[in-house]
Amino acid sequence: MRLQMQVDELQRVFRNCPHCGASELYIERNHRIHCSACHFEYFHNVATAVGALVVTPQGLLLLERAKEPARGKYALPGGFVDPGESLEAALVRECGEEIGWFPENEELHYFCSFPNTYRYKDILYNTCDMFFLVKTNTLDPASLRIEPGEVTALKVLPLSDIQDDFFAFESTKQAVKLLQEI
Ligand SMILES: [Zn+2]
Repeated sequence: MRLQMQVDELQRVFRNCPHCGASELYIERNHRIHCSACHFEYFHNVATAVGALVVTPQGLLLLERAKEPARGKYALPGGFVDPGESLEAALVRECGEEIGWFPENEELHYFCSFPNTYRYKDILYNTCDMFFLVKTNTLDPASLRIEPGEVTALKVLPLSDIQDDFFAFESTKQAVKLLQEI
């Protein structure tokens, strides 16, 4: 049902073939867009995103989102991986951009991944969100510099105080739940 909804949405956005202009575009397996007239093909592939589970002695670092989607809800430092970037490089860059903190590569430990969807300007993207654990005793949250365009507030909460409905994204909920269970 959910997949059919995504196919319908893609059909609405991709009305004509960008190569020959034909209106007979077919969407298969929720991501392959194919023109039967000129055989143009485009794959609306899964995008890669990264998130940091930053665990300090006081708890988990959470960012209140400044923008849509899900403005006001909590997220983790992170974002989309740029073309040509590794997961680690993307995570370090995103932490720098959002909170002015650049973790060392050795501090990043792969933890888990979950699929997610991300709606931006009427287009629904399927993502695979990869989460890294960053345990730190030296990070002082008060010293972080938040980027107001991205983040309105920063919180550090004990894991046991964090609830499902705090989060903007399903994948973050799942990753934090897993962290709470270990
Ligand atoms: Zn075509």
